[in-house]
Amino acid sequence: MTQKLKKIVIVGGGAAGWMSAAFLARQLDKDCEIKLIESSEIGTVGVGEATIPPIKQFNNLLGIKESDFLKSTQGTFKLGIDFENWHKKGDRYFHPFGRFGLEIDYAPFHFFWLRNQADGVNKPVEEYSMAWHMAKNNKFAHPSRDARSVQSTFDYAYHFDANLYANYLKNYSLKLGVKHQEGKVDEVFTHPESGFITNVKLSNGDEVAGDFFIDCTGFNSLLLGKTMGVGYQNWQKWLPCDKAVAVPSQLPNQILPYTRSIAHQAGWQWQIPLQSRLGNGLVYSSQYMETNEATETLLQNIPTKAISEPKHLSFTTGRRNEFWHKNCLAVGLSAGFLEPLESTSLHLIQSAILRFTTYLPSTDCYSLLAEQYNRETASEYEQLRDFLILHYKATAREDSEFWHYCKNMQIPEALADKIALYKHAGHLTPEADNLFKHTNWLAVMAGQGLKPDQLPGMVTHKQNIDYTRTLNGLRKIMIESSQSAPRHNDFIAKYCKS
Ligand SMILES: Cc1cc2nc3c(=O)[nH]c(=O)nc-3n(C[C@H](O)[C@H](O)[C@H](O)COP(=O)(O)OP(=O)(O)OC[C@H]3O[C@@H](n4cnc5c(N)ncnc54)[C@H](O)[C@@H]3O)c2cc1C
Repeated sequence: MTQKLKKIVIVGGGAAGWMSAAFLARQLDKDCEIKLIESSEIGTVGVGEATIPPIKQFNNLLGIKESDFLKSTQGTFKLGIDFENWHKKGDRYFHPFGRFGLEIDYAPFHFFWLRNQADGVNKPVEEYSMAWHMAKNNKFAHPSRDARSVQSTFDYAYHFDANLYANYLKNYSLKLGVKHQEGKVDEVFTHPESGFITNVKLSNGDEVAGDFFIDCTGFNSLLLGKTMGVGYQNWQKWLPCDKAVAVPSQLPNQILPYTRSIAHQAGWQWQIPLQSRLGNGLVYSSQYMETNEATETLLQNIPTKAISEPKHLSFTTGRRNEFWHKNCLAVGLSAGFLEPLESTSLHLIQSAILRFTTYLPSTDCYSLLAEQYNRETASEYEQLRDFLILHYKATAREDSEFWHYCKNMQIPEALADKIALYKHAGHLTPEADNLFKHTNWLAVMAGQGLKPDQLPGMVTHKQNIDYTRTLNGLRKIMIESSQSAPRHNDFIAKYCKS
């Protein structure tokens, strides 16, 4: 007989495990026990420090106070990502959070920017982004709630220590009654007829039974991948990086309110400022770069002294064929992996657990719920994948085998169509449910030098608008407005004291 879920077992205590536990504990009544098993012997992946704006919604849903969370996780504010050397060596552009400009006469802002460019005003599109003006001056203030103000046009996310975040959510979850068991799961048992997971056995002999199991075992994917045999789609032909080396370094004088992403010969380097240190890493393709060379490249390009030994990680970009199978859901790295270029992994955890809660099953796990969940999640992964591929494909670099490959690779048809449409006359077509909107696609397309062959029809016909005056005025207000904001360092110091 179908019944409400009485016991959900989460295996894994990284960010995925504790984000899932915290959210379920907050949402579900006490009739449903939530138990999390983690193994300190195995440990967590321990990286994952940059996020995107929807993380604020997640924390809000948990009722977390922002200043308390930032204090506990060494967090800082993030207004976007500065990309260096991606289009050409020496070039840079900014991918801001929030909007470019303002809507003028119901038309997309970038139509006017393109028209202005055609008229000979050579200002990059980021000059019309409030987030960029704050970022380049190392400023931060919360966005205004007044929709008429340019201060309302930007958005923000955070940088934080992923281990501290998991720990913060662990304390939060335990307070809400989540049961915690330390131990390594050695065996997973399934029902001989239904194929449902019945229980897991730990190395100390303890057995834990449940109605539903959430696999948060990281790249291991012990439950969904290894036990249930759900296969993996490998996307390396489009996203060829498969390794990373990470090292924290001393805190620089300035805590930048943005992530830096610097392209190198066979990959790219991240710099993520926290309150206590700088997070650094190099994501690279082992086909084009040896481990020693990657480590040296990273160590030579960090701006402050390393404070621990470099840590090496391997991954395969892609996703599971299904994310939810029978009574098992994979969340986090066990579900799939997209490299951290646009800081989307923690978001995929958030979105998975919110979606699962929406489709929360009874004990029979009605198969259409899982099918719907799987369809939506697959589409989300694919949209994000295509956005990441754009960064590599739209390069003009051919100075190494790696970049030569990226520039000339075949790409998914949907992405090829998006690029073609923009190149034709500046049109952008993210799907309505796409996490990344016009601003995001435009930032990368324009930043990496894609130019439409002609202007959008709408602005070739439009009359009575002095484009240059309108855009100059907007830019001026943004510059003035950013100047009045406090310095990021000062803002954090004051905010985290309160
Ligand atoms: C190089 C790199 C950089 C990244 N940067 C970012 C970023 O900037 N932003 C972002 O959003 N994301 C980033 N990520 C992704 C992010 O780190 C992960 O999404 C996040 O940490 C969640 O990991 P997880 O919890 O799925 O897995 P893990 O952290 O690996 O946790 C797995 C858990 O499962 C447990 N476990 C495994 N096997 C067993 C077992 N048999 N028994 C019991 N317990 C078990 C482990 O002990 C651990 O607790 C990055 C990832 C990599 C590789």
